[in-house]
Amino acid sequence: MKFLIIGGDAAGMSAASRAKRQCPDLEVTVLEKTGDVSYSACGMPYNIADASKDIADLVVRQAQVFRDKQGIDLQTGHFVRSIDPVNRTVSGTTSRGAVFVHAYDRLLIATGGTPLVPDLPGFDLPGVHVLKSLDDGRRIKAFIKEKSVKRAVIIGMGYIGLEMCEALRARSIQVAMVKPGPAFLPWMAGELADAVKAEVQSHGVDLYAGQSVEKIEASGGHLKVQGGGVALDADMVLVAMGLKPGSELAQAAGLRTGVQNAIAVDRSLLTSDAYIYAAGDCADAYHIVTGEKAWVPLALRANRAGWAVADNVCGKRVELDGIAGTAVFKVFDLEVARTGLTTAEAAQAGFQPESVSVTTRSRAHAHPGSKPIQVHMVGDKDSGRLLGVQMVGREGVAHRINAPAVALHARMTVSRFSQTDLAYAPPFSPVWDPLLTAANQLLKKM
Ligand SMILES: Cc1cc2nc3c(=O)[nH]c(=O)nc-3n(C[C@H](O)[C@H](O)[C@H](O)COP(=O)(O)OP(=O)(O)OC[C@H]3O[C@@H](n4cnc5c(N)ncnc54)[C@H](O)[C@@H]3O)c2cc1C
Repeated sequence: MKFLIIGGDAAGMSAASRAKRQCPDLEVTVLEKTGDVSYSACGMPYNIADASKDIADLVVRQAQVFRDKQGIDLQTGHFVRSIDPVNRTVSGTTSRGAVFVHAYDRLLIATGGTPLVPDLPGFDLPGVHVLKSLDDGRRIKAFIKEKSVKRAVIIGMGYIGLEMCEALRARSIQVAMVKPGPAFLPWMAGELADAVKAEVQSHGVDLYAGQSVEKIEASGGHLKVQGGGVALDADMVLVAMGLKPGSELAQAAGLRTGVQNAIAVDRSLLTSDAYIYAAGDCADAYHIVTGEKAWVPLALRANRAGWAVADNVCGKRVELDGIAGTAVFKVFDLEVARTGLTTAEAAQAGFQPESVSVTTRSRAHAHPGSKPIQVHMVGDKDSGRLLGVQMVGREGVAHRINAPAVALHARMTVSRFSQTDLAYAPPFSPVWDPLLTAANQLLKKM
């Protein structure tokens, strides 16, 4: 049987490796349009922050290792341009311009996502970058070095924009961030978002929220980002306005798409075609709180979905529970995390949300080095269920978010969560963990 995979990063290479491990006789071919496979995109901002590091350090496993040691037919520089579900073939062109056609018995589409870049003047100028692929990271690093970049404008204030803001400041580059929406982190509870905003501003970053960008102009060897209320000079511009699912191939092949145009898959990652799977950022998933389809482009679920596809192709039926949208990122000295639903998402999903925000400490109050932790917790007044948690703090946030993430998977009520036996010792937490304090406060309101 021939298992063909389009896309050679998180979902695609996870599927290829596991399929070959589970059924060594399976013929596994991966077609990847770039020259890079199996790398940590998530590590790029931290790599860019350090001029001495090679971007190739982020490659987890070299292409040749997949070929020689794992027996995977991995073909880089192979851009798939169409899928023919009737004849079960895919076709495309190589980086040298040759045409190829591959037949499959089972196909996995693992094409990831595509950065959103508005169709406005100047967004294609040299010096205007996106950060998605390893090649993007390579280009940005080379550009900063060659042009001795002193000023950068980041368009967008999502987590990749914020991680890059920190990275560029670490390279002593002045940073301004601009975006059309008025709220700094619109998904985050106001007081928590304010803390993140203050942290960014305290590192000398100028923030222009609520400013639409109309064009980028080249002027005197520099760039100017212009909009209704802004005219920002820069040596480099990073467009970090979000992502859309890379579902064009699937759509053109007649496969069903769903939420945000992501490829619609069932719990076994099968698309609307019985021979085609989709996994990772190009595909949707079930949200474990709402039970509805959701599109959350993050790394763990891409890797896990790749594994599940491999198991299913090898004949071991696997269905995934779904995602909680658990995410964490670092902005300068702050850890920012979320899992589950915001109040607005909960209301939209038909819950009766109640929420609370508390500020407690990361360590016992008398313990040296204790720092504030802000917790925002959302519950459902009707069922008592825990629906979501957000946290911001200087320590103890990133891994603490995993406790409510597990509680969401277990469909716990706020009351049951408040009874959980969480760890305590003065260097790590107050005796009442910040999460338990939030749950106890929320219970009073529910
Ligand atoms: C800067 C940055 C930081 C991030 N940080 C985090 C983080 O901290 N935590 C987290 O959970 N997630 C993070 N992510 C997101 C995470 O990297 C993605 O969710 C994950 O890589 C998705 O894996 P994927 O395999 O679905 O897609 P991708 O990694 O995008 O891989 C898709 C592959 O398909 C190839 N491809 C696309 N179309 C074709 C075609 N037609 N023919 C052949 N090949 C094709 C692409 O070249 C690519 O190699 C970050 C992403 C970026 C860019």
